[in-house]
Amino acid sequence: MHGRLASGLILLLFLVLGAACFGTGPAAQDKHYLEGTSAFAGSSGGKRWRCADVSVDVAMGAGIRIDVICDAAQKSADALGTCGLRSTRTITLAVTDGVFLRSGGGKWGQYITSASHVEVLSEELHRKLGRFEFHGTDVPPDEHYAGIVAHEIAHAIFSEAIRDLELPATAHEYVAYVAQVLSYSLETRQRILAREPPLPTSSLFVFSNFLMVADPDRFGINTYAHFVRTENRCSFLADVLRNKVHFPFGSD
Ligand SMILES: [Zn+2]
Repeated sequence: MHGRLASGLILLLFLVLGAACFGTGPAAQDKHYLEGTSAFAGSSGGKRWRCADVSVDVAMGAGIRIDVICDAAQKSADALGTCGLRSTRTITLAVTDGVFLRSGGGKWGQYITSASHVEVLSEELHRKLGRFEFHGTDVPPDEHYAGIVAHEIAHAIFSEAIRDLELPATAHEYVAYVAQVLSYSLETRQRILAREPPLPTSSLFVFSNFLMVADPDRFGINTYAHFVRTENRCSFLADVLRNKVHFPFGSD
């Protein structure tokens, strides 16, 4: 009798401890891996994470949501991966407001080619800036922020995929903006497209270097509007990748 009681208590204890060990916790910690302390260049310090489903290491300080960063990176990788553009290296990403501050507010994120390294501003600073629209279309703040991550991750993937080819900046930005807008919800993308007159897919004159610098959001809208109306999108991206697409005024 005592033996059965004891084994019952042990079983109960095991279940309680099991619940404590494997029970509810922040979803982000279940999915992504804490790797230690960050030593990334450009990082503001803090912890280093590895995304679970995409080859991205993230350095960030406290109060930043790793799941937001990793999910956005994964969306970008998935969007390009559908068309066969994949990274075989680990991309490092540092969440640092330095990227915004050093550029005088001109950059929310950047990709450093030589190091396969991405920097994006923090969600906190992003929210303070309060500009959550894409060329006149409101974009929910979380989607807007994720779009910044997706854009820079796409730069990293594309830059690796082209290897030593020197493509015009417009080709790089075309791919990055496509990944950015594809990371938005369907509802947001539909609102963006609803404002846009159809673009002829036969001409790439709207993707000039001048427009890219003078009005980057307009350039970004053009890329998405063009891409979704392109009949064979993956073969178009493959042609961009092989430098078979001529971007007029792409290197002005
Ligand atoms: Zn870009």
